[in-house]
Amino acid sequence: MTKSPKIIQIRKNILEDNDINAQKLRDKFKKHKILVVNIVSSPGSGKTELLTKLIPELNKQGIKVSVIVGDLKTENDANRIKKTRASTYQIQTDGNCHLEAHMIENALKNIDWKNSDILIIENVGNLVCPANYDLGENLRIVLMSVTEGEDKPLKYPTMFNSADVCVISKIDLAEAVEFNKKLAITNLKKINPDLKIIEASAKTLTGIKTLAETLIKY
Ligand code: MG
Ligand code: ZN
Repeated sequence: MTKSPKIIQIRKNILEDNDINAQKLRDKFKKHKILVVNIVSSPGSGKTELLTKLIPELNKQGIKVSVIVGDLKTENDANRIKKTRASTYQIQTDGNCHLEAHMIENALKNIDWKNSDILIIENVGNLVCPANYDLGENLRIVLMSVTEGEDKPLKYPTMFNSADVCVISKIDLAEAVEFNKKLAITNLKKINPDLKIIEASAKTLTGIKTLAETLIKY
């Protein structure tokens, strides 16, 4: 079934409004010299767990971090991240499957973002529409866990194409799930030749330092 022109127009207007709001955010972040990172992935790839290890590593290197996290419901992820003592705010989208720039604008009132060097936004777990919503970030990181299948980038090209960095997460499980790393990297590069790829594990801390340094150098 093809969509009616009216629906397409409404969708186009929403995206245009979002782009305007995102640009306003980007200007504001630039003024305060804050690096903003948008982390996207499918549900269960380990975004929150990675952050609980990445934030202490950044802190160790003198970098202050604030966090906005999005989920449909619950404050569970924010509560986990708050244990790192980062200023954290949970957005509950109440059904919306992605974050939009105006939600970030509102969330800023609830965190100490001006006092941080890096603002990390953990998006709603979803590899589809978050690709189309600019949140005013400087850097987009997509997670792909070794349990997800090597063809994820081919199935969700927009997301992998719009990202700057791909973290292959849960790398400690690679052998157990017979993850074909070579094939995964070939697929990632096919969709996005410029993608920086970092293998990481929140469990063994593999790649956490590399990821922290990537953010610091950016
Ligand atoms: Mg999470
Ligand atoms: Zn959505």
